[in-house]
Amino acid sequence: MNILLIGSGGREHALAWKIAQSPLLKRLVIAPGNPGMSGLGELRAVKATDVAGLAALAQEIKADLVVVGPESALAEGIGDAMQRLGIACFGPLKAAAQLEASKAFTKDFCKRHAIPTAASETFDNAAEARDFLKTYAPPYVIKADGLAAGKGVAISPDYQDAVAEVEAMLGGRYGPASQQIVIEEFMTGEEASVFALCDGETSILFGWAQDHKRAFDGDTGPNTGGMGTYSPAPVVTDAVLRRTQDEILTPTVRGMKAEGHPYKGVLYAGLMIEDGAPRLVEYNARFGDPECQVLMLRLKSDIVPYLLAAATGRLRDLPPPQWHDQAAVCVVFAAKGYPDSPLSGSLIRGAEADFGPDVTVFHAGTTRGADGTLRAAGGRVLNICARGADIREARDRAYAAIAQIDWPGGFYRTDIAHRAL
Ligand code: AMP
Repeated sequence: MNILLIGSGGREHALAWKIAQSPLLKRLVIAPGNPGMSGLGELRAVKATDVAGLAALAQEIKADLVVVGPESALAEGIGDAMQRLGIACFGPLKAAAQLEASKAFTKDFCKRHAIPTAASETFDNAAEARDFLKTYAPPYVIKADGLAAGKGVAISPDYQDAVAEVEAMLGGRYGPASQQIVIEEFMTGEEASVFALCDGETSILFGWAQDHKRAFDGDTGPNTGGMGTYSPAPVVTDAVLRRTQDEILTPTVRGMKAEGHPYKGVLYAGLMIEDGAPRLVEYNARFGDPECQVLMLRLKSDIVPYLLAAATGRLRDLPPPQWHDQAAVCVVFAAKGYPDSPLSGSLIRGAEADFGPDVTVFHAGTTRGADGTLRAAGGRVLNICARGADIREARDRAYAAIAQIDWPGGFYRTDIAHRAL
């Protein structure tokens, strides 16, 4: 098969690493990719949001399957473009990707289909939002409706702060993404991410993980795209998985189909779990980054038949995927200054060494200088991932590897997976 993989982050490096192991693969083309992926496929300099360029590339390489990594490409309508060309695409159409792109859409959808989530109201008017805040107790959860690179959620401890957030968001802090806001009930419990593959009709569970969103140790500092992950996650028991499937994922896939937007691709449910009961925090329309990295390390089955079946409506023909018993941990090595203003261009030494069979380093924001050196070119730069008999062993291996990388311009959290230990 000829496969076009879209994206350039650690998530896509992990997908490329797994796809490249498939005996079904003939040719892997990655657009635009990153330096770490160059040994796995052919890199082509087409941006993930350049829908016309990607469509032309898919035709040129006679792609049998297009695999979409990032949400930005989905929101631009890459799925729709591939459908027009008759090319199988792993990733939802734009109308279905609303499950991620519009929190107001998703909250209304959950109400229509009785999917457990925080109670909420949607506003585009600051006065009405202020009045609503007065009707309930802090903490207040205020969210921009649209895509805001993971930054569009504010949790306010008091009314004054909440009003300031409401006014800033409706005043245009996130541009069109915050023209509407959602104000919702604060949920308590433990968070986890559960992934399902969907083909428009059927969904199958495809792994679970927990992540660390705050920048610094002890879950302090600003929210980030994610500083580390581990899988399995102790809070995600078999019973929680069953309930997630029955109460959240299955009604979602059925509801999307019934409403005329069949959902295919990966459905990533961010959950809040309390007393064994999962509630939906949010949906994403793609794999998590860095959750994908630990899932790919743990996935034993060939991924390609699953991606193709999800894209072509044939998931029910496949058995549940097989997983390695081993645990996996991913530690993100980020550029100093991340997430607000990461410093670009610093030299990284030793990241491409052989760390042994249990450690894999995925690249995210890296670039290769003319002299062959590796340099930082983004916020989250490297993902140091390891497998082990249990979370502790996997974590120790990841930290032993990261200690060998010489990058004074970077920082990482030293407590990834502490909750599982
Ligand atoms: P989201 O982008 O919707 O996943 O929100 C980002 C983070 O904000 C989540 O991972 C939670 O830690 C927190 N959060 C979002 N919604 C709620 C809520 N209703 N109650 C408590 N925490 C929340």
